Amino acid sequence: MSKVKTFWGRISIQKKLYLIFGLMAVLIVLELLTLKYAMTNLSAVRAFVYGESVWSKAQKDSAYYLKRMAITKDIKDYEAYKKALFVPHECRIARLELNKENPDMELVRRGFINGKIHPEEVGPILHMIQTFDFLPHIQTALRTWKEADELLQTFEVRAEDYRREVFASHSDPQKRRAIAVELDRINFELGKAEDRFSHALQEGARWLENVVLISLICLVIIVEVIGFLLVFFFGNSLAEKLNQLIDSARRIGKGEFGVALPVTTEDEVGKLTAAVNTMGQKIKSSHSELEKKIAERTVELNEAIKTRDEFYSIASHELKTPVTAIQLSLQMMQKSLNDTTTELNREKLLFQINKSVELSRKLTNLQDTLMDVTRISGGMFDMKLVQQDLMDVVRHSVEEAEMSVPGRSVDLEGPEHCYTAIDPLRIGQVITNLVHNGLKYGGGTQVKVTVKDLPEWIEIAVSDQGPGISADLHEKIFDQFIRVNPDKGISGLGMGLYIARKIVEAHGGTLKLSSAERRTTFTVSLPKIAG
Ligand code: ADP
Repeated sequence: MSKVKTFWGRISIQKKLYLIFGLMAVLIVLELLTLKYAMTNLSAVRAFVYGESVWSKAQKDSAYYLKRMAITKDIKDYEAYKKALFVPHECRIARLELNKENPDMELVRRGFINGKIHPEEVGPILHMIQTFDFLPHIQTALRTWKEADELLQTFEVRAEDYRREVFASHSDPQKRRAIAVELDRINFELGKAEDRFSHALQEGARWLENVVLISLICLVIIVEVIGFLLVFFFGNSLAEKLNQLIDSARRIGKGEFGVALPVTTEDEVGKLTAAVNTMGQKIKSSHSELEKKIAERTVELNEAIKTRDEFYSIASHELKTPVTAIQLSLQMMQKSLNDTTTELNREKLLFQINKSVELSRKLTNLQDTLMDVTRISGGMFDMKLVQQDLMDVVRHSVEEAEMSVPGRSVDLEGPEHCYTAIDPLRIGQVITNLVHNGLKYGGGTQVKVTVKDLPEWIEIAVSDQGPGISADLHEKIFDQFIRVNPDKGISGLGMGLYIARKIVEAHGGTLKLSSAERRTTFTVSLPKIAG
């Protein structure tokens, strides 16, 4: 049973349906074969009864010719009597042969055919006699046939006596009458035997009909019950499994990703169950991965918010410092101008004005930086490329940076000219920023700018020998708001390097930080583009 279950579980739904259909078909074929078998046997009975009627008619004819012979005393009637007995004689030969242990079937067949049985019916009759000889009806019929044969033999013996009496020159009328009376009695007995024979066969036929009918009804019931049970169990288990799958899908839909149904079969439903289980597991793992990522992103976001808040506080501080200083200078100037008692100190006034101009320039730089950041994040950071002598831009930027830190100078090394397509203002901004950083964070060491005109690139390296930047920050330093040691009192927004790298990248170049032999070097590489 368990083997059948395993086999059933392994085959596909299509094959299961074919099997159910095949089994039903086999049962129906069985039903039809039973019907055919029954019909053949019924037809054999019919043919056998017909044979009996032929036998009976022949016997009756023989009796008739015998009586006629007594009246006509014509030998032709005797011959007709003899001829009429041909059919019963042939049937007797067949019967006697059949009773033998090893009957000559050809002889039997010939006997039946000569006894006026249709050749096609001989086979079924023989089959019926041999197969159903255990049945009382068949036994009665065969016994009656034998009795009738024996009676007929007696009839024939007495008929010979009768013939002799009829054709004798001195016949005894009394003896003749006595023989005729006996012949009549035998004839009568034969009639009764014939009735018994056909009655027994008809009984047998009725029995067979009933057996066949009951068998057919049983078979139909078996077919229907088996069909119903197969469809019921198969349909039920299929519906149950599909309902479980629907339930699992619903639960997965509601967020219960760990749902796992047992895979009991290898058919389509089993495969679907395995697929749903895998899907649930995959969703579960990607869900937890997603949750992990969300947690990481939340941390990053919180850090970004913290950095942004720090930036706002630095930015407001950076704005406030020059604004306060400008206010102070203006108040001092106002005081000097209002004071009519003391002579106007022109030098002091000029110092205050210069200081205010310097501070307002710082404010403008700050505003430019903020504008650049807005442009970069808004994707509106356009470059206006023109063919330019890069050395001019570098020289001008270095001077500008030098001016912002009075008393400091920068070493510049490079070719006389080198040309490529750049946005001069933006590249100038990058160089100024890098040189300015060197002056600010280089610990007072000499800042050096080296320009190299390579075959495909132009390299501008800005270096100092200050404290440098630790290796783990070499990439991060180019992110927004990143500042190393922000508490050291040097003002800044942590945006300069971020903007610088964006500008260089917009030119198709790179900006990298390296440190070797205690030297911190920012290298700008720009592609050489012909104008
Ligand atoms: P800001 O100077 O406005 O703070 P930057 O993006 O230009 O912003 O610089 C980011 C940080 O990188 C600075 O705060 C500083 O700590 C560090 N830095 C930049 N250049 C140098 C340098 N040459 N030597 C050491 N540290 C530097």
